[in-house]
Amino acid sequence: MKVDFFRHDLTAADASRVAGVLASPFITSGAVVREVEAQLCAFFATSEALLVNSWTNGALAGLLALGVGPGDEVIVPSMTFIATANMPELIGARPVFTDVDAATLLMTPDTMAAALTERTKAVIPVHLYGQMCDVRGIRARLDSMGRADIRILEDAAHCFEGNRQGDGPGMYSDLAVFSFYATKNVTCGEGGAIVCRDPALADLLRQTRLHGMTAGAADRFKAGRYRHWDMARLGVKANLPDLLAALLGPQIASIRDRLPHRQRMADRYREAFAGTGIRMQCIERDVASAEHIFPIHVPGEYRDGAIAALNEAGIGVAVNYNNVPTRSYYRNRYGYDEGSFPVAEAWGQGTLTLPLFPSMSASDQDYVIDQVLALVAPSCAGRLDLPAIPKES
Ligand SMILES: *Cc1c(COP(=O)(O)O)cnc(C)c1O
Repeated sequence: MKVDFFRHDLTAADASRVAGVLASPFITSGAVVREVEAQLCAFFATSEALLVNSWTNGALAGLLALGVGPGDEVIVPSMTFIATANMPELIGARPVFTDVDAATLLMTPDTMAAALTERTKAVIPVHLYGQMCDVRGIRARLDSMGRADIRILEDAAHCFEGNRQGDGPGMYSDLAVFSFYATKNVTCGEGGAIVCRDPALADLLRQTRLHGMTAGAADRFKAGRYRHWDMARLGVKANLPDLLAALLGPQIASIRDRLPHRQRMADRYREAFAGTGIRMQCIERDVASAEHIFPIHVPGEYRDGAIAALNEAGIGVAVNYNNVPTRSYYRNRYGYDEGSFPVAEAWGQGTLTLPLFPSMSASDQDYVIDQVLALVAPSCAGRLDLPAIPKES
């Protein structure tokens, strides 16, 4: 038997939407982008949404719009995808890593506060694996410490449709950045979005998204007439073309209705592995996770063997993620070493991600569960489970 790590479920109907754009004279950012941006505004109950061509470029445009630059510090969790830290680093700010909570693997108001300095300019909480951070709590902590000046950019790459206490991304931050990369819950191959609530910041973002220009392509050629434009500030090239935006509308329209299926699949894994010594991320009571991916954790010395055994059994797996500050680049640049971030370090050494995608069949999942119980669970026997935070049923 063979179970892929991931399969998208775009169809011929999606192909014909792309063909529709191809048949029009305008294939870059235009009417389709504006339509999807309006859809995002409705979805997130805000007046400001911008499509971008990746999380990475969206975060770059966001940091530029927030005025983050050389000499500034940006607090990021040590357990995340490298892009979270790389974007502040790329514009000359310093990513200041903070360890994550041992049960949820998330940045918390406490872990964030421990990393604050006078130079802190922004914080990037990451909604790891689909579980939202307590952004409201992080904002409240900053305010109570007299740091209303610090900006929050949410890394919502894993969490489009999840929420905490009913609030989705973008409610308590300056901006939330999403990814529509190939394996994300909403995808157009490569893409992303920024949601914010401040129209003045959105105006800045529309410039930093496109070279700092004062008019996009659609506006430069309005009604058949060329219009001059200025460059008001420094920006990046982060606009999404209509060709890719055409894939997003139906997915956004159906994503909330599709979440319960994903949650049932994740719960099946949780129930199957409970009590085996296989560790899993704890989902807090007041959170509806977007269940983007399903990582498990085994003792570090058995991890690579577990990956090889599952691959041998035809099962696709991945590692999400390693402790970022001990990647060679950050180790060499800032001198981080093992032991600086014990939770992220230990999770990174023992984690592997199992297949989870909507079109995965129940028998595919049964096979994965059986193989994990047979090949992986024995190396975990006798380990103490992480403190489980019970889910509200
Ligand atoms: C995928 C991902 C990103 C990067 O997204 P792109 O759209 O590929 O740039 C950033 N952060 C996290 C946590 C991710 O998983």
